[in-house]
Amino acid sequence: MPDTPETSSLMLIIDDSVDNIRLLSGMLKDQGQILFATSGEAGIQLAQQRQPDLILLDVEMPHMNGYAVCRQLKADANTQRSAVIFVTAHTTAESEIEALEAGAVDFITKPLNPPVVRARVQTHLRLQHHSAALSKLAVRDSLTGLYNRRYFDDQLENEFKRHRRQQLPLGLALIDVDHFKMYNDGYGHQEGDICLGKVANAINSSTRRPGEIVARYGGEEFVVILPYATPEDAQKYGELICKRIQELNIAHAHSATAHNVTVSVGLTSAVPDDSNSTRQLIKAADDALYQAKFAGRNCSRLVLQV
Ligand code: GH3
Ligand code: MG
Ligand code: MG
Ligand code: MG
Repeated sequence: MPDTPETSSLMLIIDDSVDNIRLLSGMLKDQGQILFATSGEAGIQLAQQRQPDLILLDVEMPHMNGYAVCRQLKADANTQRSAVIFVTAHTTAESEIEALEAGAVDFITKPLNPPVVRARVQTHLRLQHHSAALSKLAVRDSLTGLYNRRYFDDQLENEFKRHRRQQLPLGLALIDVDHFKMYNDGYGHQEGDICLGKVANAINSSTRRPGEIVARYGGEEFVVILPYATPEDAQKYGELICKRIQELNIAHAHSATAHNVTVSVGLTSAVPDDSNSTRQLIKAADDALYQAKFAGRNCSRLVLQV
């Protein structure tokens, strides 16, 4: 993520006065792209659609004032990550508290002082970019860029509960690179890392249905959550992944299975209920993976119950 907010930031100005919008956007035009809305309702809609980094919000507006707009933005998961700065003629402690309680990060007082406006906006854009980068790091694996194990664990719990409510099947795939120790021994650890990156990319780009989550489970193992996948869907997915990895055609002269890098895939699918758990789902996929290894690798197997 670039560290210069000027090149990549999206700002939204919500103000019922077109003159104020013109004045503010004149001050901020070199700090990023600017959207504007002349009512709270229109502003909320635009924020939902475009998810700006920063919202400059007028307090005094007819119909819906700035505090109400801010509270609504902060209550909606789609818009709560936008930082809100109030623009107000009120300078009392009470109005300051009300602004912060509504969820604003800062406020700017009228009459507007251009250098102050620019400095405050720049500071908050920087903070926004840093916190976005941090939250991305917290859920991503650094080598492959895939989701990490912790994120997978959380999401599997969520999906398990959601599928239990809906009484629909949830699929899981465990993917393990074949003879990877020999790959490292033969080509070196750095080449091993590059290989893992390519395998990760191929799995990720072959996994395109809504809600599917690809994570690095550990070492040379990957895991994929397959929402609503029946046993047949899971089997098809396993075959696709084996094929895609073979098609990468990464030479592996030390593999006892093939001349190139291959994977084995363990699959499962179950309708969650009170008699099973995420632990059992993982165990079933793990047993299936063991069967695929035992069957000669470069193939997938399905286990429905443990
Ligand atoms: P199998 O076909 O039975 O899965 O054999 P394998 O050699 O792939 O399995 P094993 O568990 O014996 O070895 C896994 C290897 O993966 C050993 C370890 O050094 C390597 N590995 C794990 N994480 C990384 C990593 O981040 N980078 C690299 N380069 N190697 C890794
Ligand atoms: Mg106004
Ligand atoms: Mg392994
Ligand atoms: Mg392996």
